[in-house]
Amino acid sequence: MGKMKAKKNLGQNFLIDKNVITKINNSIGAKSDDLIIEIGPGMGALTKELKIKNAHLLCYEIDNDLKNYLEPLIDSKTKIIWGDFLTCDILKAIENIKYHNLYIVGNLPYYITTPIIKRIIDLKLDIEEMVFMVQDEVAERFTAQPKSKDYGSITLFLKYYFELEKLFKVSKNSFNPVPKVESAVIIFKKRIKKPNVIEDKYFKLIKDSFKYKRKTLKNNLNGYDFSKVKEILRKYNIEENVRAEEIPEEVFIDIANNL
Ligand code: SAM
Repeated sequence: MGKMKAKKNLGQNFLIDKNVITKINNSIGAKSDDLIIEIGPGMGALTKELKIKNAHLLCYEIDNDLKNYLEPLIDSKTKIIWGDFLTCDILKAIENIKYHNLYIVGNLPYYITTPIIKRIIDLKLDIEEMVFMVQDEVAERFTAQPKSKDYGSITLFLKYYFELEKLFKVSKNSFNPVPKVESAVIIFKKRIKKPNVIEDKYFKLIKDSFKYKRKTLKNNLNGYDFSKVKEILRKYNIEENVRAEEIPEEVFIDIANNL
């Protein structure tokens, strides 16, 4: 790692396991006329592999001390933007790049996993696929099924936009420095057929439904006309005293459409 000391406050845990790097790279289907955005290239472990695809590559790195590692990777198709991915003008950065499909990848800084994903969704880009290394616990939450403890409003929020899948777990020992938590790589694929529902209404419903984990749906939805909700639940043979974590997406969609 040379003289560079990893900065904990920037979530710096650098990948050192070549097999994991290759596996991540192989999960990304980008071709030479596509654009890959990499978030947090660090010392370039993944960046070097990504470059082999010969796609347009745009990397966002906040830490200027990594210049010695990343500047040698710059070429006609590879750009590094030194700045905060959460605040940089991404639309402007890509407006002059001619590309076919967009891919976003990164071994994410874990302290801002959700803000990064929310930012991406807010940008309303047409994204083919995203491949991210995240904390394993977070991967479980993002990809959970109904009736499991990890299923929550974030699961449903992401599912609205993407088909998510956990690809593989990654051991702590694949990083330097070794992090405290286990990791996993997940893939987000563009959802071709989005549910037919008013977005704001649906997102408010799921947020309210999961407000207090231990409460029933009915208690979390005080302030709503629950007789309408009850009618929908009955249609799916679901008891009135159900908790939100037992309710599949299609039922939430049906409820949102009938409020
Ligand atoms: N991709 C490298 C690897 O796999 O070895 C580094 C991954 S490390 C987990 C996360 C990287 O994100 C670090 O290089 C860190 O400096 C960078 N980072 C942290 N916050 C950032 C932000 N807001 N915007 C852009 N990069 C950030």
